[in-house]
Amino acid sequence: MISGYDVVIIGAGPAGLNAGLRLTSVAALQPPAVLLIDRMAPWEKPIPCAEGVGRLGFEEALEIDPSWIRLVISKASFYSPDGTRVTYADANKGFIIDRAKMQRDLADKLRKRGVEITLGVKAVGVTPVGDDGRRRITLDNGETVSARVVIDASGPVSLLGRGEDICWKPYDLEPAYFVVADNVECDTDAVHIYMGRNVAPGGYAWVFPRGNGAANIGVVVGRNQIKGVNLRDLLSDFLGKNFPNVNILTYFAGSIPCGYRRGSIALPGLIKCGDAANATNPVSRAGIVEALMSGGLAGSAAFDMLSAGGVRQQKRICADYEKAWVEKRGARHLKLAKAKESLAKVPDGDYNTAARTLQSMSADKISMAKIFGVSLGRFPRLIWALRHLM
Ligand SMILES: Cc1cc2nc3c(=O)[nH]c(=O)nc-3n(C[C@H](O)[C@H](O)[C@H](O)COP(=O)(O)OP(=O)(O)OC[C@H]3O[C@@H](n4cnc5c(N)ncnc54)[C@H](O)[C@@H]3O)c2cc1C
Repeated sequence: MISGYDVVIIGAGPAGLNAGLRLTSVAALQPPAVLLIDRMAPWEKPIPCAEGVGRLGFEEALEIDPSWIRLVISKASFYSPDGTRVTYADANKGFIIDRAKMQRDLADKLRKRGVEITLGVKAVGVTPVGDDGRRRITLDNGETVSARVVIDASGPVSLLGRGEDICWKPYDLEPAYFVVADNVECDTDAVHIYMGRNVAPGGYAWVFPRGNGAANIGVVVGRNQIKGVNLRDLLSDFLGKNFPNVNILTYFAGSIPCGYRRGSIALPGLIKCGDAANATNPVSRAGIVEALMSGGLAGSAAFDMLSAGGVRQQKRICADYEKAWVEKRGARHLKLAKAKESLAKVPDGDYNTAARTLQSMSADKISMAKIFGVSLGRFPRLIWALRHLM
């Protein structure tokens, strides 16, 4: 590494990689000096993620290579607390992707565009802007590098930017625990979501197929409902009840930032994106497409900052970046974050009754509008819970 760069990107996840791609594509004529660092080579270990994405958002966020797609998903099956199954066929479809392959390929593409990539170093701090207009990034190997713009794409828990007027910590960080297993019997063109207080209080259990009889099976629990809950026991009960014959290959734990608040996600010389900017959908807990999208916006904002005349212009770029995110996903996430707690309070019985009503309809008649219609029409508590979405 040299000591000074135009842009330093921290984190080689979907957000950081897409930030680099966008930055280097808008800046094709005058390539800036860009360093991308990660505390590890994320693609060399299994990535703690169920790897499900919606097709439309994924295609909007970046150019997809077909080799990243493990499976095409055309349905979502919801299981109410008493096990009633409702299947919703989504014409837009979704994918189960191979994140390791995608991230490795994107990193290779960045290298070809001249981005320097250093893996195995962790950023331990980012200073405020100095008199020379640069921030300094302290690394755990004792070195320091400087940059005119830092893109923090370091995921939910790195806390960079602490002490400045920026969202530096995760909101509503929820714990998740899951296994990758084989010998799993389930439809491979569907994702399976299980709800109920005994299944995963305030969250859900999921079964996402991976092909060849394998699946990713896990639980995520609401932060306000976690007290007294042991995630390992919860998952073990779920597996014992629903998939007693699976062969567990690996266990993983992870955290998902599931809250969203308005608040600064960029300052002159420091732009946050992906999980580091709480970009995850608070209810579905999906964050891959969101990280790719916000990373793309961050890359463009970083490019604009490099040519900005002064602090005032940089602040304008920060405001435009935040506005672009609010328009793309933030406004919706704010509503979902508000609805989430109320949804967690709806009794299991309401979900059971709604599911039974929907189950009696033929699958091709079930649409999202129907699901909402049935639920809202029958249960005042659900209407109240969903008032934030109206
Ligand atoms: C169990 C689980 C299942 C999930 N399933 C899905 C799913 O099916 N679909 C979906 O859309 N989303 C899912 N998510 C959410 C999704 O994984 C994240 O939202 C997404 O990875 C966010 O991307 P990111 O680039 O912001 O952060 P990350 O993918 O977390 O990448 C951050 C990178 O930064 C590196 N890093 C961290 N700190 C530092 C540091 N200080 N210095 C240097 N490098 C650092 C990390 O090593 C990492 O490579 C799941 C999350 C979990 C925990």
